Amino acid sequence: MQNPELDAKIVARGKDFFSAISGEKPSLFNKGAWMGKVMDWSMQNEQFKIQMFRFVDAFPSLTNPRLLTDHIREYFGEEKDMPPVLSTGARLAGMLGPLGGAVLNKVISANIHEMARQFIVGENTVEAVRKMEKLRKDGFAAVVDVLGEATLSEEEAEVYVGTCLEVLDALNVEQKGWNDLAGQGGVPGLDWGHAPKVNISVKPTALYCLANPQDFEGSVEAILSRVRRICAKVVEIGGFLCIDMETHRFKDITLEVFRRLKMEYRDYPHLGVVLQAYLKETDKDVADLLAWAKARDSQISIRLVKGAYWDYETIRAKQMGWQIPVWSIKAETDAAYERQARMILENHEVCHFGCASHNIRTISAVLEMADELHVPKKRYEFQVLYGMAEPVRKGILKVAGRIRLYCPYGDMVPGMGYLVRRLLENTANESFLRLSFAEEPRIERLLEDPEKSAERERGERAAKPENPVAAPGGMPCFENEPMADFTRADYRAAFPAAIARLRATPDKTYPLFIDGQEVATTDLIPTVNPAKPSEVLGRICQAGIPEVAKAIEAAKAAFPAWRDTEPGERAQYLLKAARIARRRVFELSAWQVLEIGKQWDQAYADVGEAIDFLEYYAREMIRLGAPQRLGKVPGESNRYFYEPKGPAAVIAPWNFPLAISAGMVSAAIVTGNPVIYKPSNLTGIIGHHLVEIFGEAGLPAGVFNYVPGRGSVIGDFLVDHPDIALIAFTGSMDVGLRIVERAAKVHPGQRHVKKIISEMGGKNAIIIDDDADLDEAVPHVLYSAFGFQGQKCSACSRVIVLDAVYDRFTERLVKAAKAYRIGPSEDPANTMGAVADAVARKSILAYCALGKQEGKLLYESPVPQGEGYWVPLTIIGGITPQHRLAQEEIFGPVLAIMRAKDFDQAIEWANSTSFALTGGIFSRSPDHLARARRDFRVGNLYINRNITGAQVERQPFGGSRMSGVGTKAGGPDYLLHFMDPRVVTENTMRKGFAPMEADDDMLK
Ligand SMILES: Cc1cc2nc3c(=O)[nH]c(=O)nc-3n(C[C@H](O)[C@H](O)[C@H](O)COP(=O)(O)OP(=O)(O)OC[C@H]3O[C@@H](n4cnc5c(N)ncnc54)[C@H](O)[C@@H]3O)c2cc1C
Repeated sequence: MQNPELDAKIVARGKDFFSAISGEKPSLFNKGAWMGKVMDWSMQNEQFKIQMFRFVDAFPSLTNPRLLTDHIREYFGEEKDMPPVLSTGARLAGMLGPLGGAVLNKVISANIHEMARQFIVGENTVEAVRKMEKLRKDGFAAVVDVLGEATLSEEEAEVYVGTCLEVLDALNVEQKGWNDLAGQGGVPGLDWGHAPKVNISVKPTALYCLANPQDFEGSVEAILSRVRRICAKVVEIGGFLCIDMETHRFKDITLEVFRRLKMEYRDYPHLGVVLQAYLKETDKDVADLLAWAKARDSQISIRLVKGAYWDYETIRAKQMGWQIPVWSIKAETDAAYERQARMILENHEVCHFGCASHNIRTISAVLEMADELHVPKKRYEFQVLYGMAEPVRKGILKVAGRIRLYCPYGDMVPGMGYLVRRLLENTANESFLRLSFAEEPRIERLLEDPEKSAERERGERAAKPENPVAAPGGMPCFENEPMADFTRADYRAAFPAAIARLRATPDKTYPLFIDGQEVATTDLIPTVNPAKPSEVLGRICQAGIPEVAKAIEAAKAAFPAWRDTEPGERAQYLLKAARIARRRVFELSAWQVLEIGKQWDQAYADVGEAIDFLEYYAREMIRLGAPQRLGKVPGESNRYFYEPKGPAAVIAPWNFPLAISAGMVSAAIVTGNPVIYKPSNLTGIIGHHLVEIFGEAGLPAGVFNYVPGRGSVIGDFLVDHPDIALIAFTGSMDVGLRIVERAAKVHPGQRHVKKIISEMGGKNAIIIDDDADLDEAVPHVLYSAFGFQGQKCSACSRVIVLDAVYDRFTERLVKAAKAYRIGPSEDPANTMGAVADAVARKSILAYCALGKQEGKLLYESPVPQGEGYWVPLTIIGGITPQHRLAQEEIFGPVLAIMRAKDFDQAIEWANSTSFALTGGIFSRSPDHLARARRDFRVGNLYINRNITGAQVERQPFGGSRMSGVGTKAGGPDYLLHFMDPRVVTENTMRKGFAPMEADDDMLK
């Protein structure tokens, strides 16, 4: 809270400011122009705003008249139904009717270009320099921001650096002819006597395409290697360099880049970084950075902004299960800004301050605090975005003199992303500019001390009654386990530490677990690190037929008591197991890195999913466990309830070694079916962790039995056994179909038909529509195809690209793939690791060879030399549905690209295999998306995102046709497959009298 005296000064200054600009409006809100009308409509009509901004986002990809016409109709309806703001211009052109479409296209295109131009200083250097010269004549300095598409490849990063260097050279030539902006003395040749005339901002993620907090050091060094080159040029021409701040994910990387760069240019004062007041961590970051600069006696500069990604940060944190990193009340951000601005101003001897805001209260607070602290004028300046808040910038020019406009420069196409951000910012309900200029301003409120506003809002929120929702049984509702947050240093440190701990323990022999007892056998199979097969991690005892028979016997014996255990009690074991797994999350994840070659994030996600299954199925069983009354007829009670089927064989794969195992096992157990669990021998150690987890959870003997063994030895015996009531299998189609066939046969002594739950393979496709956002599509396709080396049944193995964008997409995809690094997954710098084993390797390499015959090799990555089951990342073009590469599951990092002539063909090809597991589409056409929802027949369809990583409860997972029997793991129907329903009907009327039940339909 500001002290009352200072606050009064701030408010008085703010009022003066408002009256000085009274009657003026930023051009953005000028309803006389198309843009002002669009803003006005958007603020009145949320649906129009969404459609309009989405259309603007898609606009750059609408490169022919047909696309444009279709999209205008799809987004806004037929011309007669269109909001007048869109059609009036064309109508005024007087040519609607048969020619209307073409005219409408022209008018709308011209208007959107005009709108983008509002925020972009120029599309080329000549235009940008001309505009900046004009701005200087009006007294405004500039900072240039080079717009670019998202950087997806090393080549694109180089283009970005090249453009920055080019702009700097051009500005250097021009600056020689520029007069200094007037200030109070100081150094001639500098604006205001102290500020370089050439000033550039750079975006760290434009400098390295694989920037990722998981690989913190690699990201810092890669960005640094490029920003260093820009910095050298800036220093050479005596300019100013600021490193922009993007999303929270990259914040600590950016700060580290800045610190290292600053140490290389210790004595150069004109280097700065952006901090965002809306982040809760920023108070600490400002304090740390100031202390760091002081300790080194080095001059830095901080541009303080509020932050441009508030919605993104909030949504992403919610999706990932993380704490929201930004303040949730707008005034909290404003208050944080004033706190942090004060800290910077108090340290003005080491830190130059760039106050970047359009908010009159914020600006007034900075001016008053600077006065109070006697901060010399040369130690702070004001900054606003080009194209916004013209009255505010004029006002600042008048009172402070030192104002700089942030001037994006470059192509219109990437400019559209920037335009959409600005449109959103200015139409947001709490935007200061909207509240001040687009509505009747409530000046007292706008100038109020934000601490006071925040307190009031907190009070109002607290007074709102909460509506707590509980899961059945009064439990807290299910929530997915949070994903690993590698922005946290403790998470980054935990992986190498856990891996080192595992390595430090001598390799162990893992016994079987039958009827509550460990059982050792002499037949051992070593389990190894696929990136280094000579590294034996442990030895797995192999079950033979006698051991499996014993396990089935134990399960059979345990069945009656377990069946009759209350569902709620059975659920408690799962909840306990979830707590144990959560406690051991890094150890369990580290095993996945070593035993099957998962990258850190993939390994952690697998453990998280295992916990989700335990938590979710526990709640589901409580829900399903309560008998339901059917019908409401008095004198009759119909009770519908479920009972388990009997001993369950669970046969699990190696690719999600904990998650799928825990899912199938826990579903069987919680529904009352004792389990005989056969993990893959490739992940026997991870499988054994279920013994430890369920053991610690205290499951009764015989309910969970662990019998790893060779499929060829025990597989058929387990499947054929007459006492096995159900089989839950996940794996290849061949094995799955074999199980289905064998299990259909009734063996002597068998008294039931076996239930099969079989999840098999996929040949999953992603369609790239002709209006797709390639900045999004390329990285998501790469992740879907090559994450965990493509060894997921959900992985993308075909990408079907519409002819119009085929060349552009493929070129960017291949360049982006070239940045992928292959090597041991324990090193987070590697994007791809080794494949599962020698058999997998041989099969994948055979498909690579086949791909080269059937299609055209577009890219084959290098692989590490020496031991390890390495296969190259492979991209094959020219594939059509007739090719084997388009039909057979490969289960490795091989991606086939198919060129479709139109959307109909793309859908037809997508459905042209016998599988139906996952699929995806990148499109911004509402019509095409509707078609895909209806006609792209897969179990899990993903729109405009990657196609792997289904989340329990949110995205129940599983396919149909040859992908499986459609049981949808992690969904509301899954447990039903493990039980039989029963109905008990009782005539409750005796001698004409029946007890009444509350919901009897007696008198209606
Ligand atoms: C020169 C310059 C450079 C910039 N560089 C960057 C940069 O590198 N990185 C970056 O992220 N942004 C950058 N920006 C954009 C900047 O973040 C936004 O323009 C700014 O947040 C708008 O703030 P304001 O004070 O002008 O407006 P105000 O209307 O007072 O504030 C709007 C801001 O409040 C915050 N907010 C909105 N709703 C809530 C809520 N419910 N709870 C909490 N906070 C909320 C958001 O940050 C929002 O942008 C830059 C801006 C300028 C002028």
